[in-house]
Amino acid sequence: MKKRNFLKGIGLASVALISTRLFGNQRMETNDNYDFIGEVPYAGDPILPINGKFSLPELGFSYQALEPNIDARTMEIHYTKHHQGYVNNLNKAIEGKPAASYSLEKICSLANNTDMAIRNNAGGHFNHTFFWEILKPGGANKPTGSLATAIDNNFGSFDKFKEKFEQAAAKRFGSGWAWLVKGANGKLYVYSTPNQDNPLMTKLGYKGVPIIGIDVWEHAYYLHYTNKRGEYVKNFWNIVNWDVAEKNYSKK
Ligand code: MN
Repeated sequence: MKKRNFLKGIGLASVALISTRLFGNQRMETNDNYDFIGEVPYAGDPILPINGKFSLPELGFSYQALEPNIDARTMEIHYTKHHQGYVNNLNKAIEGKPAASYSLEKICSLANNTDMAIRNNAGGHFNHTFFWEILKPGGANKPTGSLATAIDNNFGSFDKFKEKFEQAAAKRFGSGWAWLVKGANGKLYVYSTPNQDNPLMTKLGYKGVPIIGIDVWEHAYYLHYTNKRGEYVKNFWNIVNWDVAEKNYSKK
């Protein structure tokens, strides 16, 4: 019997116990109920190494393109130094290991508590690649189609969803990410992850297909916003490409 069917078949109290075990140690900070999120494999286009090496993806827009919401200098450093650093360190970490032939998504799904270099840098590479995609200028500036309907159905309204997402981003202590994900039941959830952990890391207890995510590491905003993370998160809404988000939502 599949886990989600099993979960549906038992009492809520037991489900809460299982959830606590899966999401132990407060890794996931959330005010949501994850009882039925289920495990969903990420079905996006795989990011593959070439001869055992990953590389920085094309950004697809200029460093200035997101101004004034994200300034050009921050974009340049974020992409050429931080993201490149995760790629370089991931390549070192997988050298000579089976992971050198795995997709980035598979490496994330296998991330664990022992190989922190692979976990942090695979997460860093996936998360930033994903982030640049959902920030790509030119798409719809608010949710459309089936995602818009799903957001209304799950959160009450787009504004209520934004509030919840902003809270998750604000409450993430230290460095990390906030996510909107789709569970196996099609339901939407908001939660945050520390460091470079992400929803693909199912061995660590995270779940769901990522739809959008925001980087709340200080390197993502400090030059322009200094300590005002909340302002950065509010301005994030001006630059989300909701067409890409809709495609992410539609992934099976
Ligand atoms: Mn970053």
